[in-house]
Amino acid sequence: MEQARNIAHILAKPIGPQCNLNCEYCFYTEKTALFSQSQNFHMSDEVLETYIQKYIAAAKAPEVPFVWQGGEPTLLGVAFFRQAVALQKKYAGDKKIVNSLQTNGTLLDEDWCYFLKKNEFLVGLSLDGPEAIHDRYRLSPTGAPTFTKVMQGLRLLQKHDIPVNVLCCVTKESAYQALAIYQFFKNNDVKFIQFIPIVERQPDIKAVKLGLRHGTPVSHPTSGITQWTVEPEAYGNFLITIFDEWVRNDVGNLHVMNFEWALEAWLGLAATVCVFANQCGEALVMEHDGTVYSCDHYVYPEYQLGNILISTPAKMVQSEQQHRFGLAKKEGLPSYCRTCEAEFACHGECPKHRFLQTPDGEAGLNYLCAGYKKYFRHIHPYMKVMRQLIENNLSPAKVMDVIKGPLIVKVNNQSPEY
Ligand code: SF4
Ligand code: SF4
Repeated sequence: MEQARNIAHILAKPIGPQCNLNCEYCFYTEKTALFSQSQNFHMSDEVLETYIQKYIAAAKAPEVPFVWQGGEPTLLGVAFFRQAVALQKKYAGDKKIVNSLQTNGTLLDEDWCYFLKKNEFLVGLSLDGPEAIHDRYRLSPTGAPTFTKVMQGLRLLQKHDIPVNVLCCVTKESAYQALAIYQFFKNNDVKFIQFIPIVERQPDIKAVKLGLRHGTPVSHPTSGITQWTVEPEAYGNFLITIFDEWVRNDVGNLHVMNFEWALEAWLGLAATVCVFANQCGEALVMEHDGTVYSCDHYVYPEYQLGNILISTPAKMVQSEQQHRFGLAKKEGLPSYCRTCEAEFACHGECPKHRFLQTPDGEAGLNYLCAGYKKYFRHIHPYMKVMRQLIENNLSPAKVMDVIKGPLIVKVNNQSPEY
């Protein structure tokens, strides 16, 4: 019998866009412009309890995932999260609650770690790689480096045996440091990594400051992008370089989420991450004041769906507005993507990045397309082998033996056709 699915996830930002750091490439701290100057960004008791109660009540699956993000949620202190956990217990009934905390790690201490371990939190830690790479953009408000503090946070989490998923942003510069970054994570015993391409446009930031809608399409790849935006091909090469190392040495031991998401596509499974799903609409976000938006990357006035204090998750998720938002990803796909051999895995990636024109002049091509095309084509033979292994009830990690053994010829000579 198929297990019931939750209708959508509503990620919470209990301290809004406020953060103790000032990372240059951050797209979210700008959102303070959406709120009044006198705004207290601390989520009120009323919003917290209403959110927890309604979110659990709306959940259809036996497990209810809560994701706490920011800004920097640890600025609220452990007390806020103790209260959140107590409220979850009050309303959980027979449902299992799973909490994830996304943090920059700089405020973590023993007290935090006791709490996180005791309550079985999963932690997403922002860490961009070795010191020089991390400190290139991840700075304090005074411009001070943050690497040492983040590493202290990582060590504490590891000491307490708390599951950590590192979120590593890939910038224009770091894209050329793939092996150094990968080796750094391996040396530091990181077991789960997710690489996130930084793609930002100047108009996004200006428009938010003016309280206007997000940026308008541009006709040239480099028009209006920020200086830290990763170059498309460089991003593809970055993934390929790390993939080649991973597929030979680390499958099953180090989980690079980008490769696991790709494997889902080769297995014909539904994508578990929105950027590679065929439509959007299932990853909503709630600001500290209870306002719910279509997605973390569309926190703009025109994408408001309502407020948790007066509406319900089901009503907002099933609204016509959110339905249209979700379908826009699929419907806005240019013909160039529809006929692309990698479409089944890429789906045109995130609409936020679709600001290029296709070679024949159609709007809506993803900025990272050149990189993705190269990456998906490169991993195809290996993905096919892993799929065959799984279909034969064997571990996909056996791909490492296949590459080393006589079958290497077959892997390397696979037709590039999908
Ligand atoms: S717009 Fe991008 S981030 Fe938002 S739900 Fe769609 S794919 Fe995900
Ligand atoms: S690789 Fe490029 S053409 Fe293919 S689906 Fe992705 S964005 Fe579209």
